[in-house]
Amino acid sequence: MAVTGLCILGATGSIGCSTLDVVAQHPDRFRVVALTAHRQLDRLLAQCQQFRPDVAVVADAGAARHLQDALGAARVSTQVWHGEEGLVRAAALPEVGMTMAAIVGAAGLMPTLSAVRGGKTVLLANKESLVMGGALFMAEVQRHGAHLIPIDSEHNAIFQCLPRAFAPGLAGAGVRRLMLTASGGPFRRMTAEDMAAVTPEAACAHPNWVMGRKISVDSATLMNKGLELIEAHWLFGLPPERIEVVVHPQSVIHSLVEYVDGSVLAQLGHPDMRTPIAHALGWPERLPLDLPPLDLVRVGNLGFEAPDHARFPSLGLAYDALRSGGGAPVVLNAANELAVAAFLERRLPFVGIPDLIDRALQRLGDQAAGCWEAVIELDRRTRASCAAWLEEGS
Ligand code: NAD
Ligand code: MG
Repeated sequence: MAVTGLCILGATGSIGCSTLDVVAQHPDRFRVVALTAHRQLDRLLAQCQQFRPDVAVVADAGAARHLQDALGAARVSTQVWHGEEGLVRAAALPEVGMTMAAIVGAAGLMPTLSAVRGGKTVLLANKESLVMGGALFMAEVQRHGAHLIPIDSEHNAIFQCLPRAFAPGLAGAGVRRLMLTASGGPFRRMTAEDMAAVTPEAACAHPNWVMGRKISVDSATLMNKGLELIEAHWLFGLPPERIEVVVHPQSVIHSLVEYVDGSVLAQLGHPDMRTPIAHALGWPERLPLDLPPLDLVRVGNLGFEAPDHARFPSLGLAYDALRSGGGAPVVLNAANELAVAAFLERRLPFVGIPDLIDRALQRLGDQAAGCWEAVIELDRRTRASCAAWLEEGS
């Protein structure tokens, strides 16, 4: 059986660790070529000791020296690179067949693009890169013959419910509508008044999924579903009015595809990211995983509700940004990253997150972003403006 060389961008994060967990269950199928992290050096060191990659990448030269010394002491021959340049090189190494793009936020853009430009099979968890430059990103996928497989559980579910050859468009495959499921997050039933006082700890305590802090807050505001709406639009090529969001608190149905004859196909499973990760790693085959079977009797009921746009305005902001097009999604994403970081640092109340994004969209949302330089410049300007507004407000 052919062994696939793997690069894992963001190896120390929630998705990165789940990926290594799946890989460890299939040592005959994968060889870990490169692992990257930002500042969690201890965890990266342990991963290097276990998986013996050729290359590890960290944030800066100081961290690289520190890790290189520790690896030397542990008699591990992994070479340590650093910075964005190191990430970009690692993602496109010739020994790499598949790159897992699991860095959080806009920091993942250039490394993910590098994997695309290297014509790799790209396992896409970093939804922010598609939100920032969807049209440009998909054009690069085409041009470089990269193969994109969605990791986000909803998009992976949709991918599993589509016929194998659905390019160049879903209309030809008889698809009428996509339905993204949302858990509703930890504040699904909270009043608007109570939401004003929620803490970062409460926002990060997701009822069903264990995830990094940024995406946990995004799930609590429903911006995660907004980013996923934009992600689905670019991955599957349907207009926003044919992508719906339904709240499904049990997180057992991961998303659904409706066909023109009224058939609705869904993918179900435990809320455990190892399932979509294993699906993508093995595709088109299936890799066995040591998860307990889904016990539907124990699940009991599957519930569905409409999202409450009044208490969760972020989802509507994402629909608006997608409909506006141009640079609006860039502004949405950058303002959200800044707002979430400020909330996690207790400099902005939870309900201030959508307010800041709305303000950024009103001031900057009409800018164009037709090339990568413009995307990066608009991302930078949005961050600078949001930082200044936060400063004024504090
Ligand atoms: P996380 O915070 O747990 O991990 C983030 C990873 O990125 C870490 O390895 C960290 O070292 C690295 N990183 C952070 N900042 C960096 C920077 N500036 N430069 C280089 N590396 C950096 O995040 P996560 O929950 O694993 O999410 C990763 C991505 O996957 C996000 O885009 C998220 O939206 C997406 N995603 C996550 C889940 C989930 O269940 N966790 C599900 C679907 C999609
Ligand atoms: Mg998701």
